[in-house]
Amino acid sequence: MATKRDYYEILQVSKSASADEIKKSYRKLAVQYHPDRNPGDKAAEEKFKEAAEAYEVLSDSAKRQRYDQFGHAGLNAGGFGGGAGFGNVDDVFEHFGSIFEDLFGMGGSSRRSGGGNRARKGGDLRYDLRISFKESVLGTEKKIQIPRKSACGTCEGSGAAKGTKPVTCSTCRGQGQVAVQQGFFTYASTCPDCNGSGKRISTPCGDCKGSGFQTKSSNINVKIPAGIDTGMRLRVGGEGEGGVNGGPAGDLYVFIEVEPNHLFKREEFDLIYSLKVGVAQAILGTEVMIDCFEEEPRKIEIPAGIQPGQRLVVHGAGIPKLEKYGRGKGDLIIEVNVEIPTKINKEAEEHLRAFALKMGQNVKNSNGFFDKIFG
Ligand SMILES: [Zn+2]
Ligand SMILES: [Zn+2]
Repeated sequence: MATKRDYYEILQVSKSASADEIKKSYRKLAVQYHPDRNPGDKAAEEKFKEAAEAYEVLSDSAKRQRYDQFGHAGLNAGGFGGGAGFGNVDDVFEHFGSIFEDLFGMGGSSRRSGGGNRARKGGDLRYDLRISFKESVLGTEKKIQIPRKSACGTCEGSGAAKGTKPVTCSTCRGQGQVAVQQGFFTYASTCPDCNGSGKRISTPCGDCKGSGFQTKSSNINVKIPAGIDTGMRLRVGGEGEGGVNGGPAGDLYVFIEVEPNHLFKREEFDLIYSLKVGVAQAILGTEVMIDCFEEEPRKIEIPAGIQPGQRLVVHGAGIPKLEKYGRGKGDLIIEVNVEIPTKINKEAEEHLRAFALKMGQNVKNSNGFFDKIFG
């Protein structure tokens, strides 16, 4: 991608320009490069979109501050979502409907209707799904219920009552927009009689009240792959809202949140198990069984002389890698913690004192004083 131009440069204002100056300058550029005034001129269209992007950022004080501080990169981070640019001119009108209204004294969104019968993709839906840690490791299938707008079954999406049909709007002759003259511009404005649909319904369908849509809950099975983690999302194609005028349905995005587990943590695809051993076990070594979501728990050998915080690695016994991250599984990592008892019985204490004596370590005696240890 080409380097982005400086937003101040695009809007031809200084870095210290006031909000009013920015708006004024944008207004000038928007009029100059307006697609209605430059039909078929790709360069003008690019300038028009570029100015809109710059104005979108600089007219928002929070975004402007961030842009001043960090430049373009600052807008991509931190959820500002600014500086993304506009894919096409229609997006500009969609985003800036109110600004165009403000600038030109007319409905900014009008231009985008582009004929009321145009097929449009349905909206995307988001569903937040919480799964257990075990489910995230093993993968699972979940039935989720989503309320979804879809074409009304009674009128098949037309909005007209059974036995009737929507008729072409006579005001706009089905175009969805009417021409409005203003100064030397001619703008297309949403048809006031059909609200841009190009059709009029004399007898609305009773089930959807003429909207052509119904909201229904539907059950969807979502396959959750083994190895998924919090923050990942799954796209279920075609399970979003129904399309308009025969357009394709939108998509469903399932956002995953994995519940924390009291025994395990994960690092990438490694499974981290926090193991507590006693002092004697750490010194002499031991054996433990760890259930790391396999068919059988694993027998893990803890070698004699293990140190607190030391990690033991069992290769390939971790979390299955998602396809795009490679094959196989991550590792099982056992983090060993040595537990120091705060209370022990008399007999154990005597043994421990004997042990200290053997090791040449001076310890407090039962009265709280130190015994002198020599050699
Ligand atoms: Zn209906
Ligand atoms: Zn009309």
